[in-house]
Amino acid sequence: MQNFIRDIIEADLQSGKHTTVVTRFPPEPNGYLHIGHAKAICVDFGLATEFQGRCHLRMDDTNPDAEDVEYVEAIKRDLRWLGFEWGEHLFYASDYYERLYEHAVHLIRTGKAYVCSLSEDAMREYRGSLTEPGRPSPHRARSVEENLDLFARMRAGEFAEGEHVVRIKGDMASANMKLRDPAIYRIKRAPHYRTGDAWCIYPLYDYTHCLSDAFEGITHSICTLEFENNRDLYDWVLAQYEVSETAGPGTIPCRPRQIEFARLAITYTMMSKRKLLQLVEEKRVTGWDDPRMPTIAGMRRRGITPEAIRAFCEMIGVAKNNSLVDVGKLEFCIRDDLNHRAPRAMCVLEPLAVELVGLPADRRTIEAPSFPPEAGKAGSRLLPLGETIFIEREDFLETPPPKWHRLSPGAMVRLRHAGVVRCDEVVRDANGTVSKLVCRWLDGDDAVAAKVKGTIHWADGATAHDVEVRLYDRLFDVEVPESLEQLNPRSLVTLEGCKVEPSVASQSPGATFQFERHGYFCVDPDSTTGRLVFNRTVTLRDSWAKEDGAHAEERKEKPRAKEAQPASKAPSIASLEGAERVRAESIVLEHDVSEAVAIALAQHPDLGALLDAAVAAGATGKAGHVVANLVVGDVRALLARRESPLAFGGKELAELAGLVANGTVTGAVAKDVLGRLADSGGSPAALVASLGVTTLAADALGALVDEIIAAFPDEVARYRAGKPALLGFFVGQLMRRAKGKADAKAAEDLFRSRLG
Ligand code: ATP
Ligand code: MG
Repeated sequence: MQNFIRDIIEADLQSGKHTTVVTRFPPEPNGYLHIGHAKAICVDFGLATEFQGRCHLRMDDTNPDAEDVEYVEAIKRDLRWLGFEWGEHLFYASDYYERLYEHAVHLIRTGKAYVCSLSEDAMREYRGSLTEPGRPSPHRARSVEENLDLFARMRAGEFAEGEHVVRIKGDMASANMKLRDPAIYRIKRAPHYRTGDAWCIYPLYDYTHCLSDAFEGITHSICTLEFENNRDLYDWVLAQYEVSETAGPGTIPCRPRQIEFARLAITYTMMSKRKLLQLVEEKRVTGWDDPRMPTIAGMRRRGITPEAIRAFCEMIGVAKNNSLVDVGKLEFCIRDDLNHRAPRAMCVLEPLAVELVGLPADRRTIEAPSFPPEAGKAGSRLLPLGETIFIEREDFLETPPPKWHRLSPGAMVRLRHAGVVRCDEVVRDANGTVSKLVCRWLDGDDAVAAKVKGTIHWADGATAHDVEVRLYDRLFDVEVPESLEQLNPRSLVTLEGCKVEPSVASQSPGATFQFERHGYFCVDPDSTTGRLVFNRTVTLRDSWAKEDGAHAEERKEKPRAKEAQPASKAPSIASLEGAERVRAESIVLEHDVSEAVAIALAQHPDLGALLDAAVAAGATGKAGHVVANLVVGDVRALLARRESPLAFGGKELAELAGLVANGTVTGAVAKDVLGRLADSGGSPAALVASLGVTTLAADALGALVDEIIAAFPDEVARYRAGKPALLGFFVGQLMRRAKGKADAKAAEDLFRSRLG
């Protein structure tokens, strides 16, 4: 994404002002890094990398009170984890103390700074206000000799804190208050975590930062908007020194340029380090790495990946005006990332025992794919299945409402990946609470003929592992939290005795999974051998979306900076009610389709019935997925423009989907075949054979790829010179020539490998 900082850097390189870009990230080691810092890091390190320059890591450590080596170590750890490396360019402002002292002596010597002995209150009084000019301090007229003497004695420890400060001789009438003789040195009798008792005077930010930048040869000093007013002072200080290669008190190696961008603020999130420290100190959270904290350490422990954080920073971009970013965007990036990364598993959070009657011998171990087809990742795991299993207590209702799509007495459901069962008996304990269900396994024709209500997940009684699950939610329950009293009381719910499938049992901390229907989870470091603890990273859908919807109008009114939106603003299942919602959820689960597809199927009974008929005719697994998409994408369109009924039904759909699933025909061909079947009916396989539209075999596809490469030499040259977007052009050309018979993904892979 283009942004104004990149424009400035490009112009500076083009004009020859700089040949190498040098940026820096300057945290104060007084707390852990948070998601706001991540944005600054992505800008500072990201731009340096992009322009083959370098980015320094500088600890901005000039306040002995709050700084600590623990924070230095945490900052380094989190930065590396985010994927950034400073190499040998690690610096500390505290390493410059001597040099900064000499540079201050230079200012005094040239009459640009003086020692002021006004009290803090008096100094404020003299400074004036936005509407009134300030008055010069009576000490402004001190001689250079007196100033030098006082400054040396300040350093030697002859005075108490607050007795003297060193101030710049700025402009007491300036409209910019920062220029009204700001202090640059103060007396502070506190040991510093790195320099110990060596100093009792410490340089202040506005003086230290610009000079540190200059000492390091920084070209672009990027910071957040609140420093906009400090820029005049930044430039003023640097202007007092000559630019020279010879390091001396009156010289600096270069004059860096300060550039400000908007600070990141996120809804439902607090980002001030002071407040975060308070959360930790008051034990409102378990520490800086509590999974509810917006810190990098907390997010890592929550199961969020560096890729997701970087994608988020890229999505929100860099702007010149402050804005409030919807936390939903961050959650979108987290889901988008984990969807392709986290293998699927089943975990029952609140178990209800089920005894299975009639379980056949050949269903005792099931091989289930670890990812849905869209994720495009291979892998499977084994699911043992025995006579006793657990299902989610809330998936059973003794007296269900109409259109209940889960289990109830006499009802039939599909156990995810396993088969169809019918609830024949409800067992109660002495208190009358349901303690167990007895369900019959339906086999063969019974299963095919079954009127299945929906699909639910389960865990095998004999092999499931008992785990603790920590359900995390947003730490604050108001959009713009201002006080620690606005904590969300349900930000952590801990569940014990959850049952997870054995495939996840041997994982180490950090491993992530999607627990189907529940969300993304990761193994917490609190886990011990034999006893896993899982953190919920994020739910599968934005459970806050509906509630937020009520405020949508209100929020539109607020000025917002230009921000990229998540790819879709499609309706979400969370906004559906009752039976429709359950049906849609069950379709997602069973067929791994998008929410939009599931919603269409749940809301249009005729479409839903076609899907059911195809499933009954054998369209399960990948074929079921294809049918669901065909029905919503193509059958719906056919129905909309036809007068006469369709000449195909569930059986034909299942057959056609089978051809797509096993690679015989492409999706594009299936669409075409479907259109023909609508009138003529008949067997899809026979029609495919007579039309000669089976998918191109590898050699034929390869020949076509070569043909395209030969036909577009200019485009090939541009692609090789660094225009990867042309890949889409090549694939498009190929698809056109192949008349739909080519597999686009395979073609893309071939182009990529042959074009190098
Ligand atoms: P403090 O409240 O102590 O001033 P800070 O959040 O400014 O804390 P620093 O350690 O000074 O923390 O920040 C290091 C760098 O990160 C600075 O350049 C700062 O501008 C940037 N930064 C801090 N918070 C954000 C944020 N929310 N969005 C973007 N950048 C940020
Ligand atoms: Mg700061």
